[in-house]
Amino acid sequence: SAGRIVVIGGGFGGAACARALKRADAKLQVTLIEPNKIFTSCPFSNEVIAGLREMETQHFGYDKLAADGIAVIGQAAAKIEPQQRSVTTTDGTVLTYDRLVLSPGIDFHGEALPGYDDAASEKMPHAWRAGAQTLLLRRQLEAMADGGTVVIAIPANPSRCPPAPYERASLIAHYLKTKKPRSKVLILDAKDNFSQQRLFEKAWKELYGDMIERIGLSQGGRVTSVDPATMTIVTEFGNYTPDVANVIPPQRAGRIAEIAGAADATGWCPIDPMSFESKRVRNVHVIGDACLGGGIPKSASAASAQGKACAAAIVALLAGRTPEPPRLTGVCYNTVAPDYGFSLAGNYQPKGDIFAEVEGGATSPVDAPRELRAREAAEAERWFQTITTDTFG
Ligand code: FAD
Repeated sequence: SAGRIVVIGGGFGGAACARALKRADAKLQVTLIEPNKIFTSCPFSNEVIAGLREMETQHFGYDKLAADGIAVIGQAAAKIEPQQRSVTTTDGTVLTYDRLVLSPGIDFHGEALPGYDDAASEKMPHAWRAGAQTLLLRRQLEAMADGGTVVIAIPANPSRCPPAPYERASLIAHYLKTKKPRSKVLILDAKDNFSQQRLFEKAWKELYGDMIERIGLSQGGRVTSVDPATMTIVTEFGNYTPDVANVIPPQRAGRIAEIAGAADATGWCPIDPMSFESKRVRNVHVIGDACLGGGIPKSASAASAQGKACAAAIVALLAGRTPEPPRLTGVCYNTVAPDYGFSLAGNYQPKGDIFAEVEGGATSPVDAPRELRAREAAEAERWFQTITTDTFG
């Protein structure tokens, strides 16, 4: 009976894919494996860190997916045997599939940042997976004295949501300006250039004066190791001992992708962009942050679009048809103050082994009246409402 599809990971990619599969063909047996009963959204978690939102607004459950007829299994996937086409969950349940979809998000590259491990993240939170880490960073900011320094360490690309570290720097500056105006935000960056840089830098000057300082790759900004015991951050040019250290380590695909054999030496998963099928493991599809998407940034909006396109491709493949080339749209909003936002929208199509950006994209103008910035901040909230309702509601 062809038509058993197992989806691993109930985040923006996996949940969107599971729903799209069931909607396309109610006869498909769709199973979603996700250990958390409640999903915690990274989008808008920077607002939680800055005290502008409460954590409850980030929480989403799986009741609606279950009501759609998706079998939701509250376990983690522990083992995958592509030959048998089976998945084993942590409690030993074995599920077989015709097609498997992986959307496990990210994990951290232990070896890539010496000194940084799970224990270090309790002192130097990454807050790059939302939840307890988000609240820890918020509490550390609340506990910091006025005049303190917050360091944000940013890795090179590819990584989850390239503009989000700069949005975070902005919103932390907003919090500090309001509550602890003598404090500083120091960005230590493993990149020289970053997404929407001119828009961010203009906003920083306008809103926060010289509160935010950034040291890029060429100035020695790349963090090479950390020592949580002494709260030391080591870069190519010197050491820093900030009051609050938000260390975002280098990333790779969620660990289960490696267990499946779908990840390559980069730590990410190469795919055929026509179908999202893994280049390394047959009948396994990889979507969201975990896949090597090329020009398409790792975002919730991209993961959701990929989830839907992957569902359409699987339906076609199960029927013996060739999938239609997907055309993906992603939009990314950045909020740098409660009434100040801007955006970047892009369209992407398969080109060889990756997705390439095609025409039709748009970015907010660098010189724009404050009303437009306020309107885009409001649009960002509507985007969040729409995508979370579409995915979980
Ligand atoms: P996730 O949404 O992380 O979902 C992965 C799921 O897989 C998780 O629920 C996890 O529990 C589950 N999982 C992992 N391993 C297993 C396993 N072995 N078995 C079962 N389940 C497993 N994107 C935007 O578009 N707009 C934004 O404004 C935005 N802001 C952001 C702000 C911050 C601070 C950060 C960090 C990210 C932001 N993003 C934003 C990016 C967005 O969060 C990710 O790109 C998106 O969540 C990727 O979706 P995904 O499905 O790949 O992974």
